[in-house]
Amino acid sequence: MTVPLVDLGWQRDQIADEVRDGFARVLATTGFVGGPEVAAFEAEFAEFTGRTHCVGVGNGTDALELALRAVGVGRDDRVALPANTFVATAEAVLRAGAVPVPVDVDDEHLLIDPDALAEVAATCTAVMPVHLFGQLAPMGRVGAVAREHGLVVIEDAAQCQGATQDGKAMGAFGVATGTSFYPGKNLGAFGDAGAITTDDDEVAERVRLLANHGSDRKYSHPVVGFNSRLDALQAVVLRAKLRLLADWNIERGLAADAYADLLKGVDGVRVPTTATGNEHVWHLYVVRVANRDAVLADLNAAGIGAGIHYPTPVHETGAFAQYGAPGGYPVAERAAAEILSLPLFPGITRDQQERVCAVLAEAVARHG
Ligand SMILES: *Cc1c(COP(=O)(O)O)cnc(C)c1O
Repeated sequence: MTVPLVDLGWQRDQIADEVRDGFARVLATTGFVGGPEVAAFEAEFAEFTGRTHCVGVGNGTDALELALRAVGVGRDDRVALPANTFVATAEAVLRAGAVPVPVDVDDEHLLIDPDALAEVAATCTAVMPVHLFGQLAPMGRVGAVAREHGLVVIEDAAQCQGATQDGKAMGAFGVATGTSFYPGKNLGAFGDAGAITTDDDEVAERVRLLANHGSDRKYSHPVVGFNSRLDALQAVVLRAKLRLLADWNIERGLAADAYADLLKGVDGVRVPTTATGNEHVWHLYVVRVANRDAVLADLNAAGIGAGIHYPTPVHETGAFAQYGAPGGYPVAERAAAEILSLPLFPGITRDQQERVCAVLAEAVARHG
């Protein structure tokens, strides 16, 4: 039995009819960029997250960059972000013209550590907490540091669609929030897509301007912009999936519970936990083991698509090496050598999970 890290076929099949009908609507009008499907999705996603505005864009990295630019974070600004994140967080900061300032993470949840943030906050003008693996960063304490030092908060919400903290969804804590609808995300398109959410009318307007060639109306371009827009066909897919997202997140939660249960008696495997106040949506199920590379090789050899998120912290990643010194982020650096993402997706079967855990237990016993 092989088990992929992510299997999107189960989701695709559930929305097949709705997608066919929606694609037919779009093909009939040939309005492929923007239009009524995009506007409808934007309204639906804004409502889902409890925000006033949602602006669909081309991908999650653009969403983060445009959010930064729209709130005026750019040249000479230093933006704190967790050392353990996907490289796109730092990439967006640099592309906006600002400097990424990696901050260590907490050992239990691998989310930005508010104490580490406090140490660099005086030198920064913004912070981009990342709601990693499907749960929100500790926004109460991050917000307190941000208020004390006057930092603008922009959330990287690429991995947490549907998650909440103290009942509040992604986007409730920052002035602007970027999310990704890359196919493997909890809410994934059939290609690249992303969005910015905000309660600020001016920020929303500014994002729309920037994302559409700096254009406020046809052939009027008051600022230099970008081309980063949401396609109508992707909006069709996202609308269909959004209706099922809450159920699919429940499926993910049940799969996470099953892993916790199956791995309870297994020595040498540290399972992930949910921080107090968080509703976790399990974008990734990340365990920690010793001799991770050998364990991963055994899993892969047995046909199990386990992965690593992420093998190198930001400051040890080629293009970003100048933004932090090795040794400066001990928790993130140690964790990078131990973390192992197990297959998890809505539709994963009990048999598949049992197989993953059996192979994992054997590999850990061999290499532990
Ligand atoms: C996926 C992801 C992004 C970037 O999204 P893209 O749509 O791939 O550009 C940014 N940050 C995090 C944490 C992500 O997981």
